[in-house]
Amino acid sequence: MPRPSAALRALLITALLVLAALPATTFAAPNGRLPAAQLAAVWHPDRDDHTLAQESAAAWNTLRLCADADGLPLHGVDKPGSAYRDLDRQRRLFELFREGRGNPAATPGRSNHGAGVAIDLDTRRMRAWLDDNGRPLGWAKAWSDAPGEWWHIRYRAGIWDRRPDPGARRGAPRLAEGSGGPCQAPWVARLQERLLAHGATGVGAQGRFGPATERSLRAFQRSLGLPGTGETDGATWSALTAAAPAGGGIASADAGVAHAEAGAGGLDRGTTACAPPSPDAL
Ligand SMILES: [Zn+2]
Repeated sequence: MPRPSAALRALLITALLVLAALPATTFAAPNGRLPAAQLAAVWHPDRDDHTLAQESAAAWNTLRLCADADGLPLHGVDKPGSAYRDLDRQRRLFELFREGRGNPAATPGRSNHGAGVAIDLDTRRMRAWLDDNGRPLGWAKAWSDAPGEWWHIRYRAGIWDRRPDPGARRGAPRLAEGSGGPCQAPWVARLQERLLAHGATGVGAQGRFGPATERSLRAFQRSLGLPGTGETDGATWSALTAAAPAGGGIASADAGVAHAEAGAGGLDRGTTACAPPSPDAL
């Protein structure tokens, strides 16, 4: 067998280099076939099957924290597939559209719902609120497809400075190191205030979740026998909002944290533009 020519070898090497340089999204799962691991839940009052692709879900769940603060329950239409829509459902909706029995539907395999970056809003009030508040989180009608559908909104990557996903649970957002910024900062500040009330030292209340906050949160969780995840969940929020012990429960557990925070550049001044509602109010 003849050896490949130098030109052919150079071509093969170039092809390999080009493949290696392609972004991971080039190999993303096909439209409507996203694996569960690439999806995350978004809140709906009556159903638990609304999901979006991870980044758009994180942005949506963050935006919803601001909606909650404004007293607006923000969610999709009460139908399966109003957010992420798998290929089978895209095909069914396209058939209904072709038969003249449904709304205009994208060609199956080309829907932004199938990419997990679109959601159909439930009410015009939600749309008006989103027009005022959605852009900084990457959600706006301005860059959505389907201009004739007021309810259809799309997420655009690259606008929001990506943060941990606060999750679909109302009143008990998941906060982790890196949480902060629009809509999340007021909740981080609340967490920090509660940690301080429970005796933490070295934690600011500026609304940015840094290493000191994480250490204090772990110490708080362990002091109560909870798993020391360093992230808030329902049980942690319940414990945080319970009355603080008179003795300042975790003060000794996180001694020295102030130095670590200073070494990491300290806390920033995350925005606290919208105050979180009381969990009891949700
Ligand atoms: Zn839609």
